[in-house]
Amino acid sequence: MSRTTVATIHLGALRHNLERIRSLAEPAKVMAVVKADAYGHGLERVARALDGAADAFAVASLGDGLRLRAAGHRQRIVVLSGPDQAGDIAEMQRLGLDAAIHHESQLRWLSEASPTRGRLRVWLKVDSGMHRLGFAPERAAAVHAQLSTMTGIDPDIGLMTHFAESEVFDGERTREQIQRFQQATTGLSGPRSLSNSAAVLGWPDARGEWVRTGGLLYGLSVVEGKAGEDFGFRAAMTLSTRLIAINAIRRGERIGYNGLWECPEDMPVGVAAVGYGDGYPRSAAAGTPVLVGNQRVPLIGRVSMDLITLDLRQAPDARVGDRVVLWGPELPVEIVAAQAGTISYDLTCGMTRRVLFVEDDN
Ligand SMILES: *Cc1c(COP(=O)(O)O)cnc(C)c1O
Repeated sequence: MSRTTVATIHLGALRHNLERIRSLAEPAKVMAVVKADAYGHGLERVARALDGAADAFAVASLGDGLRLRAAGHRQRIVVLSGPDQAGDIAEMQRLGLDAAIHHESQLRWLSEASPTRGRLRVWLKVDSGMHRLGFAPERAAAVHAQLSTMTGIDPDIGLMTHFAESEVFDGERTREQIQRFQQATTGLSGPRSLSNSAAVLGWPDARGEWVRTGGLLYGLSVVEGKAGEDFGFRAAMTLSTRLIAINAIRRGERIGYNGLWECPEDMPVGVAAVGYGDGYPRSAAAGTPVLVGNQRVPLIGRVSMDLITLDLRQAPDARVGDRVVLWGPELPVEIVAAQAGTISYDLTCGMTRRVLFVEDDN
C-alpha cells in the first residue's frame, strides 16, 4: 500500500468553486457538469459534495443519470446527448432525467413514446457553429413547435448551444455563435443555456438562464497560459506519491528507456512511484515540474509505466520516502498538461484504477 499513488479530492475546493461560478454567472442557475466520472474526480463523490448547492447536474449519458439517482440525488439531471436509442426515453421518464434533443432520430422516438409515463423535460440543442451535436439554426423554430405539440413533453422547453472555442476571449467564432443562437431562438419561449466554463469567464453576453460548468468546478482552466487559480478557483485534485530511490549517476550516463536524457554532471537522480499506468502522461517532456517536498524539480528521461525519474540537483535535502506531488494546489495541472501537449481535463480524466482515491475538506 505504501507505494500507492493517491488522488486526494478536495471537497472544500469543489464547494468554493461552485460558489465562485455562481457569483460570476449571477443570476444564472448553475448546472454542475459531472460527466466522465466528474472529470476523473468521482461522480458520486462530487455529487455528494455539491448536493443542494448545484441547481442541476449534467452528465453525458443515461448511465451516469442512473448512478446519480441510485445514489439518492433528487435534483434535475440533464443528459447532454439525450437518448441514444428509442428505449432510453422510457428509462429517462422513469428516472426523471432531462433530455437534450439534438437530432431528427430522437424526434421520431419521442413521437412514438408513451406519454403516460410522465412528462419528459427536454432541451432543444441548436448547432450554432461547433458542428458536433444540434439542429441547424434554421430548424430550431420548427423543432420547438413540434416538441410543443407532444403531450409527453414538458412545455417549458430549454434552448441550448455549445461553444467551440470560448476560451479565446477575443475570438470571432464565439461572437458569431452567440448571434446565430440568438437569431435561431428569437421568439421561442424557454430558458437559454449557452456557456461552458470558459464562456462564464470571458463571454458575459452568453449567460442565459443556465450556465453549464465542468472545468471550473474542479478548478481547471483551458485558457491558454492560465490556471484555474488565476481566476480565483481552487484545484480540487492533488495527485501524489513517494520518492522510492535516490541514485548517484555519473556524468554522461543516460536515464531511462531509450536513454533520452544525458546527465551533464555527476548528479542525484530521484525515482518516484508513478507512471502512465496511473495516468501520469507518458508524453510529459523533460523539464516538466514535479514537487519534492516544497521544491519544484524537473522530470528527466521518459515516463515509464510505474516510475518517473527526477533531477534532484536543486533538492539536496530530498530523502527516500519524501512526498512527491505531480499536480495539485501548489503545482497547477495546467502546467503539466501544457508540457505534455494536452489540456488539464485530459489529465484528471485519465486517472486509472490503480490510483487510490481519498478525500479531504480542504
Ligand atoms: C462538457 C460540456 C460542458 C462543460 O464544459 P466545461 O468546459 O468543462 O465547462 C458544457 N456543455 C456541454 C454540452 C458539454 O459537453
